[in-house]
Amino acid sequence: MKVAQLGSGTPEVAVVAGVHGDEPCGVRAVERLLDERPAVTRPVKLIVANEKALERQVRFVDEDLNRAFPGDPNAKTHEGRLASELVEELGDCLTFSMHSTQSHAEPFAIVNEVTETATELCPELPVAAMVETSMFAEGRLFSSVETIEVECGLQGSETAAENADRLTRAFLTAVGALPGDTVRRDLPVFRLTDVIQKGRADTYEVFVDNFVEVSAGDPFAAADGEKQIAEEAFYPILMSSNGYEDVFGYTAEKLDVLTAETIAD
Ligand SMILES: [Zn+2]
Repeated sequence: MKVAQLGSGTPEVAVVAGVHGDEPCGVRAVERLLDERPAVTRPVKLIVANEKALERQVRFVDEDLNRAFPGDPNAKTHEGRLASELVEELGDCLTFSMHSTQSHAEPFAIVNEVTETATELCPELPVAAMVETSMFAEGRLFSSVETIEVECGLQGSETAAENADRLTRAFLTAVGALPGDTVRRDLPVFRLTDVIQKGRADTYEVFVDNFVEVSAGDPFAAADGEKQIAEEAFYPILMSSNGYEDVFGYTAEKLDVLTAETIAD
């Protein structure tokens, strides 16, 4: 784990990259901040988490770090020990953690709960949606540390790296660590409700777009040509044909749309 800091004093905000070793976009954003060393108006902790997995260009060495929290200093796995070190290092910092997917090019935010902090900050980030995943929180960083996660784009893409850079600067501006203003935008809020399982097959297809409602009776995916039909309407999130081994993605419900005005009140 690499730990660095911008500014002096004890940081109350942190930026974390490389929780997953095959998602290099956030690491580039952190390295760029360390190269440029912008003048900050409050101290910021910068962390590159799973250096061992990044070096090997794999998601993890022993187990998924973002399912290993709170971790244990005596854990048998690399990620179990690392999770515990990371929790210790982050303490009470409001944390911004960057990821990328094989599912969706446009950035979106993921939060454990729709807290006041999330409601204030997420509309100031260049994201298309905020997704609440409290039903699937076990072992994730935000179960141990107050965290806003962002999906920056497609894994390994140049665009994801550029997005990571923009998102980090927007976050640091929104929390008052970098000078300037952010743009508030209307932001739809979704809650994950269920996992869409994927049976063993040779070929997988996905017929729907993330964040676009699927009607009851519509086919949304297929395994070896066998179509899966929606029993009830849902919003698909993190859907991909080959992203995960045993799931297509998630179903979600739409909770709300945060508008610039309601936030300003
Ligand atoms: Zn990730």
